[in-house]
Amino acid sequence: MEYRHLGTTTLRVSVLGFGASPLGNEFATIDAAEGERAVAFAIEEGINYFDVSPYYGRTLAETRLGAALQGRRHEVILATKAGRYDKSADGGFDFSAARITRSIEESLTRLRTDHIDLFQLHDIEYASREQILDEALPAMFRLKEQGKARYVGITGYPVHLLRDVAAQAPVDTVLSYCRYDLLDTSLERVLVPLAREDGLGLISASPLHMRLLSNHGAPAWHPAPKRVCDAAAAAASFCRDRGADIAGLALSFALAQPAVATTLVGMSRVEHVRRNAALVGSVPDPELLQGVRQILAPVLDTVWKEGRPENDDPGAVDKQS
Ligand code: NAD
Repeated sequence: MEYRHLGTTTLRVSVLGFGASPLGNEFATIDAAEGERAVAFAIEEGINYFDVSPYYGRTLAETRLGAALQGRRHEVILATKAGRYDKSADGGFDFSAARITRSIEESLTRLRTDHIDLFQLHDIEYASREQILDEALPAMFRLKEQGKARYVGITGYPVHLLRDVAAQAPVDTVLSYCRYDLLDTSLERVLVPLAREDGLGLISASPLHMRLLSNHGAPAWHPAPKRVCDAAAAAASFCRDRGADIAGLALSFALAQPAVATTLVGMSRVEHVRRNAALVGSVPDPELLQGVRQILAPVLDTVWKEGRPENDDPGAVDKQS
């Protein structure tokens, strides 16, 4: 395994991070015992960074991760989030200071620990900039002062919003998802320059574009427009015809971005952990990569609308359009 400093924090994180959302059955109902084995095996493979949220599986992922880490908490860097909770009609978001302060206590209980290494505001595009800057983040900084969280970060999809907020608040990290992979490389243009300037830790999630860049294809809820899903399916088939797996190529490509401290892949199976860990330090096959990039070129950097309209990235299109 390789490790990098997470910005200017004292954390040294594995370049491959364990995304725990599948432990909450976000993609499919998983075998819980296999999920637990995947966590243990990830630690054996040198993965020390685990990302979760109360939102994943509506607390199920945190509960399962907490159980899986029982007795091994000291071996890992644990990141969770606050602000996003369920799929209720009002959106399931609550970025108030009171909810965030209660949220960390609930997460600490589920995760069976007395502190969170990185506490992140989850999907900030669903909040107003005022509430993020004047209420939610100040509440998180207070929790940092109290020692309940060692560091504070923000997460979300629109990279311009993430950049603007990170430029205005003393956050330690920024996590974006689906923004550095074979379908979208905008993290490199929008977030990397600020990260370099401000010493921010950069975390890139969903290098398989939330399963689009795999042989399983998109789950029904996937927000990408149909033409993006079709292009990804064509690219997967191109790889299969050459005896290759698009997931491997996609992860190998994403891991090669040096400005990203850790790339988070959703995992709940030992075999996926094994395959993904083996890709650390790999170089994508140049011919395969060129063929896939050609297929994906017409849809490259297609971004969808996510959150409040005022927070959208320029040029964002309707979800599943
Ligand atoms: P992903 O792109 O990592 O895809 C995960 C899917 O790919 C799962 O179905 C998994 O079983 C499958 N998979 C993993 N390895 C594979 C392999 N080698 N071959 C084939 N399939 C494989 O998407 P993700 O899980 O959404 O993102 C990774 C993690 O990043 C999440 O689990 C979560 O922890 C984090 N994340 C955070 C945010 C946020 O904070 N806003 C958003 C998205 C993701």
